[in-house]
Amino acid sequence: MGEKTHYDVIIIGGGVVGTAVLRTLSRYQLKAALLEKAAEVGWGATKANSGIVHAGFHNKPGSWMAKLCVAGNSKYDQLCEELDVPFQRNGVMMVARTPEEEEILRHFYQQGLENGVPGMELLDGDAARRLEPNLAEDITLVLRAPSGGIVAPFTLAAALAENARANGADVYTEVEVAGVSHGEDGFTITSKEGVTWKATYIVNAAGLFADDLARMCGLDVPSLIPRKGEEYILDQRVSNLVKHTIFPVPTPKSKGILVIPTVGSNIMIGPTALEMPYKDDLSTTAVGLDEILSFTQRLVPKIKRRDIIAAFAGIRAGSPTGDFIFETSHAGKAVHLLGIESPGLTAAPAIAELAAQMLADAGLPLNEKPDFNPRRPRVIRFKKLSDEEKEKVIKENPLYAHVVCRCETVTEGEIVDAIRRGARTVDGVKFLTRAWMGRCQGGFCTPYVVKILARELGVSPLEITKRGKGSELLMAEAKSFLRGGETNA
Ligand SMILES: Cc1cc2nc3c(=O)[nH]c(=O)nc-3n(C[C@H](O)[C@H](O)[C@H](O)COP(=O)(O)OP(=O)(O)OC[C@H]3O[C@@H](n4cnc5c(N)ncnc54)[C@H](O)[C@@H]3O)c2cc1C
Repeated sequence: MGEKTHYDVIIIGGGVVGTAVLRTLSRYQLKAALLEKAAEVGWGATKANSGIVHAGFHNKPGSWMAKLCVAGNSKYDQLCEELDVPFQRNGVMMVARTPEEEEILRHFYQQGLENGVPGMELLDGDAARRLEPNLAEDITLVLRAPSGGIVAPFTLAAALAENARANGADVYTEVEVAGVSHGEDGFTITSKEGVTWKATYIVNAAGLFADDLARMCGLDVPSLIPRKGEEYILDQRVSNLVKHTIFPVPTPKSKGILVIPTVGSNIMIGPTALEMPYKDDLSTTAVGLDEILSFTQRLVPKIKRRDIIAAFAGIRAGSPTGDFIFETSHAGKAVHLLGIESPGLTAAPAIAELAAQMLADAGLPLNEKPDFNPRRPRVIRFKKLSDEEKEKVIKENPLYAHVVCRCETVTEGEIVDAIRRGARTVDGVKFLTRAWMGRCQGGFCTPYVVKILARELGVSPLEITKRGKGSELLMAEAKSFLRGGETNA
């Protein structure tokens, strides 16, 4: 049992929404902290999505989703520049193949105009194929929105948390909130292990579990609807298949199954949309793969099963109203962010500002910090450097001469940098550096990453985990190189 400092605001949940709220609050003269149950931030829906910064034509005009998607999208250039997070406005295309689909597509075009989506255009099939030669021949009409983009969502969450910490906020990981009570001295938040935190205000950003957290605060909220999405990643050999993110016309349940370029240069295909009774089933299935292949091959016929190198699944916090839900309890001092399904990644920067405003409306003073620094120290991405730049960084730090992940050309210097920025696990290193994300899927680099983590964290390699407690990678120090010596990867 133990008790931590009294905070002005505690945020529960370290996905892209919680970390964006924390970073927004770190602008002001107040004490804020974030509690996250996983070993690192960004490992809920935030790490397992399509990474699309939506343009904003998918959502019903006037809805929170429509307003916050367009507003969030417009903040991405500055945000990602300040935080040095990979982001590209590659543009999105919604495609139609039949007169019925064309009618639906025109409806989304009108909706985009009402939502204020900039720069949209309608193209016939041939004009679209001049921009995207691999689009199917039977596509007749395309809605193109150049403001659509792609981002590395887990990098964004980690960068938001890192910058918030640099501006005085605290982040506690491996803290699962199990109880929330309220008394004269504000909120008492108790973890599963019995540690307590005190706060005057709280923000519930617990994603798929935000309904459980809201109920802990005494709110009677409808249950969120877990909706699984499987995604499949293609080899970089076929990274030039498309430049735009390609959408079909949507289904009533989801935006449909897409072809998605990523900032890591792999094309991704997916996601499925399957409602489930559970919040923890992250399995991928042969049925899901077949569904995704048959849908995406109709958009881009050159997609081949043999090019798939990896798969994952994420679970959407499906909203029972079909829109984001913003609730308060305790006279506004607890703000609950519910049903933050897609376009939640896109909207996160705008949701964060809304949450801060809701806290201010309940009495939280928001006085700007004169020394707030919005910038995160630049990340050296060795693979992207010119030969001269490579020589320069190696001269300054020879660890950049040692390539640990051969598939993605990730150096020891980058891995050490990721650990110094907060990575504690093999997955944390993977998400921040891309070591393990190539064709061999960690087959070569894992022992070296384990060894570097152990050395930098000053612990035994036996303590290094893939993704937190219970996922230790080694049972014994069987190999001598794990105990010391060179990492001759
Ligand atoms: C397959 C799929 C594809 C998607 N594609 C896109 C897309 O392309 N573009 C887009 O804009 N959106 C997309 N989304 C939606 C987007 O991923 C989410 O809206 C966004 O990630 C939500 O972020 P969050 O912070 O609310 O939730 P999460 O990332 O789930 O974060 C919630 C956090 O709360 C923590 N937590 C939960 N309970 C507790 C507790 N009791 N104590 C402490 N911590 C707790 C969790 O561990 C988790 O880290 C997609 C979603 C899925 C599943």
